[in-house]
Amino acid sequence: MVTRRRLLLLLFILLAVVLSAALARWRMHAWDRPQVVALYPISADGLPATEAYLQRLDGAAFDALQDFFAAEAARHGLALAQPFRFELGRRMVKQPPAPPSQAGPLAAISWSLRMRWWAWRETPATSPVPDVRLYLMFHAPSRETQRLPHSVGLQKGRLGLAHLFASPAQQGSNQVVIAHELLHTFGASDKYDGASLQPRPPEGYAEPERFPPLPQLKAELMAGRIPLSETESRIPAGLGETLVGERSAREIGWRR
Ligand SMILES: [Zn+2]
Repeated sequence: MVTRRRLLLLLFILLAVVLSAALARWRMHAWDRPQVVALYPISADGLPATEAYLQRLDGAAFDALQDFFAAEAARHGLALAQPFRFELGRRMVKQPPAPPSQAGPLAAISWSLRMRWWAWRETPATSPVPDVRLYLMFHAPSRETQRLPHSVGLQKGRLGLAHLFASPAQQGSNQVVIAHELLHTFGASDKYDGASLQPRPPEGYAEPERFPPLPQLKAELMAGRIPLSETESRIPAGLGETLVGERSAREIGWRR
């Protein structure tokens, strides 16, 4: 009797989890209110230069993101004027779990679960409760380490890890990285070739209809680069050189 009751309880919990996940997915693409995005700055390297940058960092550094998404949403015909509201969260001291060193789905799942657990413990829901949590890992710019670790945006758990340069001169490209990872948390897929990093036509081109198609003038946000030729591309200087393509707009529910 006890076993059957326990089984029923388990089934009920499972049903509740499945239903709430489906509801969350539906709510995520409803776009009936601005989605609150909390940004949590973290010093990735503990260097004094990074520390100095973080002490001067304020919410105004992210205003361009709000305006960019408002303009792009309007261009895609979304009725909601302000799809995102960005809030600068508290400065974090603890580092998130290190991403998996080896490739493979199991390592990725394990890291994703540890990351969600870490986010839940370290940044408990406050008022307003954020819809998305993005952890901004700042690195002091130096000639030796110009390549940053790979940034990640997870749809499950609605969180992302963005690796950025602790430098005002890099603010534009930092914003592009944040915007890219944010759309991953809404289900947008990458639109570049994993090996060559070249944008994949047509969906990875900002203006696929342009003739001749190359060079493009802007980057599609989820392709991340402006294709100049079949083999060359460059990183956009900022959101002004970036737009959300039609395919990405569909994936995040801005277009039906
Ligand atoms: Zn990506």
